[in-house]
Amino acid sequence: MRLILLGPPGAGKGTQAQRIVEKHGIPQLSTGDMLRAAVTAGTDVGKRAKAVMDAGKLVSDEIVIAIVSERIDAPDCANGFILDGFPRTLVQADATEAMLSGKGLDLSAVVEIRVDDDILADRIAGRYTCGNCGAGYHDENLKPKVEGVCDKCGSTHFKRRPDDNRETVRTRLQAYYKETSPLIGYYHCKGKLHSVDGMGEIDAVTAEIEAILARA
Ligand code: ADP
Ligand code: ADP
Ligand code: ZN
Repeated sequence: MRLILLGPPGAGKGTQAQRIVEKHGIPQLSTGDMLRAAVTAGTDVGKRAKAVMDAGKLVSDEIVIAIVSERIDAPDCANGFILDGFPRTLVQADATEAMLSGKGLDLSAVVEIRVDDDILADRIAGRYTCGNCGAGYHDENLKPKVEGVCDKCGSTHFKRRPDDNRETVRTRLQAYYKETSPLIGYYHCKGKLHSVDGMGEIDAVTAEIEAILARA
């Protein structure tokens, strides 16, 4: 199964991707996570991407396309993968088509998670993750069962992203509407688009996505 998760920042792409990973055993390819890893490691790519990410703008197509095209050749992607946060521009969408068709592969489905703008700022401002295993949490919506302890791995170390602040959210939303939302029409035309209501409970969104995957 080769799946794309589409939606504005804070819509729940990463949260749903983690659940699909657990259920279907295919890896989550998050360009945001890969870029943050490059920033932490201090690589050339990381150095070029850091200021752009902190400002809430999009990193160049050239950089992210190179990262993804290398990643999908890894053995763990042989049975499929979930693209989370990629493609984000029409150039990246065309590059994805070329990458897949060059390998004789096709997309199974594109799932668009729809959430109203006024909710997104609260989701982003309350977001944090486990510093050890990457499990996602939220100050109000998704707390660990035991306060301060990760449900998945027991770590007590959590982190927040430098770009997850209310000032940057506006720039990131603008980037989404200007550069990424045209992909909704792009995949609709190809008969690949499925939209889910991302305003409901996390479990309800998962159920909607699973129903789509069962038919894809
Ligand atoms: P994205 O990857 O699309 O940017 P995330 O999956 O990181 O979004 O979700 C953003 C924040 O909102 C996280 O803190 C997550 O726990 C929370 N969240 C995700 N889905 C829901 C939902 N359906 N209802 C309430 N909160 C949610
Ligand atoms: P969110 O889901 O909250 O928007 P991500 O973790 O997907 O956040 O992305 C964080 C930042 O990384 C983006 O604001 C952007 O600067 C950069 N980024 C991630 N994926 C891409 C991409 N496909 N193209 C360009 N920039 C990207
Ligand atoms: Zn953890």
